Amino acid sequence: MMDGLARAIDPGRGLRALLVRVGDLARMVRMLHGLAPTSAWVFGEALAAAALLAALQKDRERINLQLECAGPLRGLFVDADATGSLRGYVRGAGVHLPGDPAAASVAALGGGGTLSVLRVRADGGFYRSAVELRRESLSSALRRWFAASEQVETALALEVLPEGDEPLGRLAGLLVQRLPDGDGAAVAAARTAIEAGAFRQALAADASAPALLRAVAGEGFELLAGQELAYRCGCSVERVRSAVTALGSDGIADLVATVGQAEVDCEFCHAHYVLDAVELRDLERRLRAAAAAPGERS
Ligand SMILES: [Zn+2]
Repeated sequence: MMDGLARAIDPGRGLRALLVRVGDLARMVRMLHGLAPTSAWVFGEALAAAALLAALQKDRERINLQLECAGPLRGLFVDADATGSLRGYVRGAGVHLPGDPAAASVAALGGGGTLSVLRVRADGGFYRSAVELRRESLSSALRRWFAASEQVETALALEVLPEGDEPLGRLAGLLVQRLPDGDGAAVAAARTAIEAGAFRQALAADASAPALLRAVAGEGFELLAGQELAYRCGCSVERVRSAVTALGSDGIADLVATVGQAEVDCEFCHAHYVLDAVELRDLERRLRAAAAAPGERS
């Protein structure tokens, strides 16, 4: 299975499953942000988790997965939507702890902080729910988040497996949920199978999507239409202009007088925007004209 999202449903047992692969995406993001191994490993997990959470939302909704932690990683942020777009950043990009990467990731998070998920509706309304971080992995914190926030029985697996010299070889996430009137015992069994390593072993064996589902949650799943996942950033010079406009005409005049230009670096994709003094004065003039216009007309 290439990078992407697969949806599946088991009508007999009343279960749904989501499976994401994000290995290519995570390797690209590691280069984009210049992430050291432990930072890259945790961020890969977060990308898989955010892709799963976004796939649970309706059209035009988005989620923000946000982690604030006491460890050297300090925190991370992933913004994802129901169309399969993902973007994000890690605060501590240079974390490289020795030893087993899963144990290193727990040390990188540190054992205090907050994991929160912000769900943003298409109309701009939002809902935030959070759990306190213990000394644990991101997947462990997310399992507790599901138990506290979703109130739907959920089995969750996030796995990062090396492939040869490549530490971010196979990177995948799986979520199995009970539908209303579905088989709760089957979700509990999937959880036990994940804890026993079934997902990890099937991933290591390069199993197909149906085989991965079978390994964790048994027979009966039907694959539905899949979806592409991609690292996409919606930043643009227009958005930078509107952000600068929010400073107001006096604020812009101040900026021209003190700095001479506005420079903005996008933290998601590292695009670099510069609005020079000519453009800033033009924005300022337009703001003053718009503010004066109602008075002139009367
Ligand atoms: Zn950007």
